[in-house]
Amino acid sequence: MTPSVRRIAAALCALGAALTACGTTGTTRPAPAGSPGSARPSATRPPVLAPGPGGLTPVFEHGPRTLGKTVAFTFDADMTADQGPRAASGEHFDNPGLIAALRTLKVPATVFMTGRWADQYPDQARSLGRDPQFEVANHSWSHYAFTAGCYGLPTVTADRMRTDVQRAYTSLRKAGVPNPMPYFRFPGGCYDQQALRALSGLGVTAVQWDVVSGDAFATDADAVARQVLDGVKPGSVVVMHCTRSAAPTTERVVRAVVPELRSRGYRFVKVSELIGRANAPAPTGHRPPSHAKT
Ligand SMILES: [Zn+2]
Repeated sequence: MTPSVRRIAAALCALGAALTACGTTGTTRPAPAGSPGSARPSATRPPVLAPGPGGLTPVFEHGPRTLGKTVAFTFDADMTADQGPRAASGEHFDNPGLIAALRTLKVPATVFMTGRWADQYPDQARSLGRDPQFEVANHSWSHYAFTAGCYGLPTVTADRMRTDVQRAYTSLRKAGVPNPMPYFRFPGGCYDQQALRALSGLGVTAVQWDVVSGDAFATDADAVARQVLDGVKPGSVVVMHCTRSAAPTTERVVRAVVPELRSRGYRFVKVSELIGRANAPAPTGHRPPSHAKT
């Protein structure tokens, strides 16, 4: 698949998400016992969206459009279950330069990490997980797709979906991430009702995006930067990658777009802040539609 086809496919995937994402009621719920957030004191429990009908896993795509210029950068730390031999032969699935740039630029960010990535890079996982500038969330253990026909990824069967997500939390904690967030990003962003049902009761909010950076397999940093700058709106969630081998331009993209977005008045936030704002009552006492499309 060429990068442009991939971008289109990812955009279609996001569109598919838009069609299925709007069943949530937008109230904060405490995390169920045994779920990722349950070890925290309730005062510090991250906001999540309420489940949909029948306990269906809720899906978040972007924050409110009318509450100021905020944007959340998200970085998928991709590594697939079968990529161990490639890492052993020198391929880099991490991106320390990108993380250093985010620290230098003081950009808060949410990292969706596969369990396999945390197993491979435990020191980096721990460093991210203990740094309040970042939040670390779940991107499955295997990075296998939760639907058929997802960018050629191998698929995880429905009866293994739940354990794949739980195994990722185990890997994140084992690496030293003390409080992984109750947010889950489907590998490739691919999901359907069966996948949402399979994760019901885990207490996770599925997090998609409304801006596809196009950094996957890109070689032209300027084109990716333009795509980000053209796409960002108030409340946007931008998807990028923290994986040098598959997204070699991302550090350059971040160094280019951060000052530009700041000059346009944007403030960088983590996904949890956008979800919290989506849940917050409007000043009038009426609750805003948390997934209203503009
Ligand atoms: Zn991924």
